Amino acid sequence: MKKLFPVIFLFFFLPLHAVDAKELSQKEIFDKRMHLYKSTEATTGVPWYYIAAVDQFERSIRYVRKDLPKPDDITGYYVPPKHWAGPLNPFEDDSNPLTITFFNGIGIDGNGDGRADRSNGKDLLYTMATYLSQYGVNDQAFRIAIWDYYKRDQTVRSIMTNAQVYRKFKRIDLDEKAFPIPKGYNYTYKNTWGDRRGWGGRRIHEGTDIFAGYGAPVRAVAYGVVELKGWNKYGGWRVGIRDLNNTYHYYAHLNGFSKELKIGDIVAPGQIIGSVGSSGYGPPGTSGKFPPHLHFGMYKDNGKNEWSFDPYPHLRLWEQQERIRRNKK
Ligand SMILES: [Zn+2]
Repeated sequence: MKKLFPVIFLFFFLPLHAVDAKELSQKEIFDKRMHLYKSTEATTGVPWYYIAAVDQFERSIRYVRKDLPKPDDITGYYVPPKHWAGPLNPFEDDSNPLTITFFNGIGIDGNGDGRADRSNGKDLLYTMATYLSQYGVNDQAFRIAIWDYYKRDQTVRSIMTNAQVYRKFKRIDLDEKAFPIPKGYNYTYKNTWGDRRGWGGRRIHEGTDIFAGYGAPVRAVAYGVVELKGWNKYGGWRVGIRDLNNTYHYYAHLNGFSKELKIGDIVAPGQIIGSVGSSGYGPPGTSGKFPPHLHFGMYKDNGKNEWSFDPYPHLRLWEQQERIRRNKK
């Protein structure tokens, strides 16, 4: 009998536990999210890509902020308890729609169960969409709504980026990445993060240098929107592109830009944005002060401030992933 007990124990408890702990595949997560966005659009009239844009921004900052809880799989939108229940509400976790309204909280019951639950995805997104719908449902109205909510320019830009990319591609599973230099061109790079630089005083090298020949194509690494394009005395001709994870990709020392590329353009991974050069270290047009290479930098924004991080491991990963995709074909 003693021997049997663990077997019985496993028999009764393991299957249940296994179901509870079952992790959703990435595809299931995207499907569930999209379903939630679309159903919120159906009940509020707010386009799904606006709802998805705010939700994705909130998700992206929660991964890099210590003062916010990590997001769950489905919804990223986070409302602080006091904001949800009302600043003077004595019950921070109040879920009664009547008292929440009385105390000027924003929480609304979105799934019709009579409770405004701050941890329920439907209630959260319905609350967000109801707020947005008060402003109207076009880009200009949406921009004002998110400005009033966040009061920060970069946050407005980041959320607009998400909305534009989602609207254009009509889906949210846009995680694919590309290595900046395409197959067939010789290039070399090593980890140069934090090295001292030769020009412009004591600056630390914030990026990875990918050495390649003049004119080798430079490609966007992710889905995103062109946020910056032009000359800088250090970076020469450079482009900045923000992706859906609120990561900013910086491409510098370009020989030139691809035709018609302009600020505000929506790009996809692998899309050519310019070519390798040696521009920079002087006034506009300066070139040839160092061997041609792409300086590639990555910057993270957490909704409060921005910092650079080492792109080297990411470049390695994207290079590898592309090779695997190519071999599958
Ligand atoms: Zn560099």
